[in-house]
Amino acid sequence: MLELKDIKKHYKVGSTTTKALDGVSVAFRKQEFVAILGPSGSGKTTMLNVIGGLDKYDSGDMVINGKSTKTFKDRDWDAYRNNSIGFIFQSYNLISHQGIIDNVELGMTLSGISKAERRAKAEDALQRVGLGDHMNKKPNQLSGGQMQRVAIARALANDPDILLCDEPTGALDSETSIQIMELIQELSKEKLVVMVTHNPELAHQYADRIIEFSDGRIQTDSHPHIEGKKKDEFNLKHTKMKFTTALRLSFNNIRTKKGRTFLTSFASSIGIIGIAIVLSLSTGFQKQIDKTQSETLSQFPITISQVTTDQDPTNFENRSTKGSFPTEKEVTAKISDADRAQHTNKLDQDYVDYIEDIDPTLSNNIGYTRLVNMNLLREIDGKPEMVKFSNDAADSQTGSMMSMMAAQTGVGVSSFPQQLDDSQGNFLKDNYSLLEGNYPENANDVVLIVDNNNTTNLNALKNLGFDVKEGEKIPFSEIVGTTVTLAYNDAFYTELPTGNFIPNQDLEAVYNNSANEELTIAGVLRIKDSSTMDLLAPGIAYSDALAQKIIEKNSASAIVKAQEDSTTNVMTNEQLDTAAKDNFLNYLGASATPYSIMIYPNDFKSKDQVLDYLDAYNKGKSKADKIIYSDLAGTMTQLTGGLMDAITYVLIAFAGISLVTSMIMIGIITYTSVLERTKEIGVLKALGARKKDITRVFDAETAILGVASGALGVAIAYLATFPINALLYNLTELENVATLNPVHGLILIVISTILTMIGGHIPARMAAKKDAAIALRAD
Ligand code: ADP
Ligand code: MG
Repeated sequence: MLELKDIKKHYKVGSTTTKALDGVSVAFRKQEFVAILGPSGSGKTTMLNVIGGLDKYDSGDMVINGKSTKTFKDRDWDAYRNNSIGFIFQSYNLISHQGIIDNVELGMTLSGISKAERRAKAEDALQRVGLGDHMNKKPNQLSGGQMQRVAIARALANDPDILLCDEPTGALDSETSIQIMELIQELSKEKLVVMVTHNPELAHQYADRIIEFSDGRIQTDSHPHIEGKKKDEFNLKHTKMKFTTALRLSFNNIRTKKGRTFLTSFASSIGIIGIAIVLSLSTGFQKQIDKTQSETLSQFPITISQVTTDQDPTNFENRSTKGSFPTEKEVTAKISDADRAQHTNKLDQDYVDYIEDIDPTLSNNIGYTRLVNMNLLREIDGKPEMVKFSNDAADSQTGSMMSMMAAQTGVGVSSFPQQLDDSQGNFLKDNYSLLEGNYPENANDVVLIVDNNNTTNLNALKNLGFDVKEGEKIPFSEIVGTTVTLAYNDAFYTELPTGNFIPNQDLEAVYNNSANEELTIAGVLRIKDSSTMDLLAPGIAYSDALAQKIIEKNSASAIVKAQEDSTTNVMTNEQLDTAAKDNFLNYLGASATPYSIMIYPNDFKSKDQVLDYLDAYNKGKSKADKIIYSDLAGTMTQLTGGLMDAITYVLIAFAGISLVTSMIMIGIITYTSVLERTKEIGVLKALGARKKDITRVFDAETAILGVASGALGVAIAYLATFPINALLYNLTELENVATLNPVHGLILIVISTILTMIGGHIPARMAAKKDAAIALRAD
């Protein structure tokens, strides 16, 4: 059934070549017990390895059942070993971290036999070699003879045609040797058994045929066989190991080295720990920042001002013209970027209506600034005098700068926001506590705002006609109830015969005009501790309803009508351009459209929806018709968010370095494991495992290590967040800063697994390439 024709095999040792087999030609019967007898080093093991397809010959031909192996590919050899060959080695070569049954089943797991059938066949084989009582033991619990029986059972289990025994009794005492020889002799009744030995007595006693071997040549053959011509009737079933088998093998191996596995996983988890902690800290800090921002920035409203800056980048020219200065001797006139970016929002009643349609559950408070002037008088020491609701110093420009700022940012305003829906709350009652008097009940009620120390603006008091010096104290009761008279334009301005208007010089008459309104300082208010809407500047604050009321009356006044028809200032006769005329008309109360609108979203979350609502207005509108809002808080949030991201990336990069280190470490560990398991690799190959299967075994091992180190790292990082949070709380009073996002944890475990598998794959490939014959010789 098996024929070797002029097989030659050489090994290179140093610079000389040794002839392991030298033109061996021999044929074997389908069923006989052949003993190969020869001194040590004569090439007997090499001969067995060649027959078993573990060691490739250099030249000649081997014919199995009429089929030449010349055309065999790697996978054919693997299948041949698995189907047709059973190896029995001098040193048993059992896999020590596997149970006895598992050892016997190993070859069958490669040939894809079902689990139940595998178990049955393995038990059968173990019964046959007389180990029925020891099936659930581990190899190291058995004696030498018993271990060799296990090896025989393993060789038999898959029912091979050829049993190859390399000094099967070499390590056994004579009594055990006899038992094993009897077992092998019995097997030879149904199989071809080729046994190598240097013990002539055993050979002569048990074998049917004795081949004497020396220096890689056959010297004598007691029972030669001449193989007749045969048809090719050899077919092979290809082998394949399941990944679960590989996993089980590796898992058992790892289990035998718990301490080392734990240390390895721990060491390689350090990178994961680092990244997990960085991630949990940065998410935590970002959360804290967001929280603080939403608290401190919620007072910054979305502002829509008549004149604003369009941030569209096309308005800003790229200035990098390095090295390409023009050579012509001329200048070009150009609009500055800032001027180009200036945008005029056409605020009209339509837009105000659009704003007032905002969902009050998103933003209930809307503030307006208007440029209308109030003609106010107050009786002081029995005489009416002009007064103002204003924080401006009488002789300074900074005051109006401040009110411009207030109009742009919505903070430090004098007109308090209106509610879109009164049932949703009241701005003053919700955010300001009443120190004296009442909250305003109608448009004619104004309030005095004081800050935390009950101070208010000195100018505000002076402008109201109070005779005070810095640091002087006035009882609340003296302020609350103070009345101020509001005169409409028709009472305040008189028309001269020239058609010009001047303020009526007779203040007594203005003061006593029947159309006047009486405004009352209804109460003194201070911002609540809990409030984040500290909008109103210390001083007098009034409702927008008051401003609207004044505009409504004054827009029909004589001075407004006259001014609307004139291109010169009706008071001073100054020539006016359109902008100056508009300004003056606004001052006189001609226009109902506000100078700026401030939208105070209820919370940080609803702001986005409000912005979407504002964006919707601009859809499909030309550039000039668009209403551009500014969102100061949003701009600031983006800035800090970007910074946090940058810091996180840098820290992750550092932690990533330790991840790479651990990957290299896993590579080294796998490599040592490969060295350690050389025998196992050889056995697996002898049983017909493919290169792929060997790679799989080690890939499975690194996969287990990767998952373990990832999970360990994430677990440790999670535990570490508790002391870290305690420490941060002590240092900064911030609670629960470090919080590990479970999604991050999962991703890190996956990354750890992938990285360690990459790190372990190269040594795994090296293992697969190992020469099986050499692997089995390693001792
Ligand atoms: P035996 O089994 O009869 O003791 P071997 O088959 O092990 O003999 O070895 C036969 C010869 O081939 C010896 O000289 C041995 O050193 C050499 N040899 C076997 N395998 C290798 C190898 N992988 N590399 C180099 N030399 C080898
Ligand atoms: Mg040998």
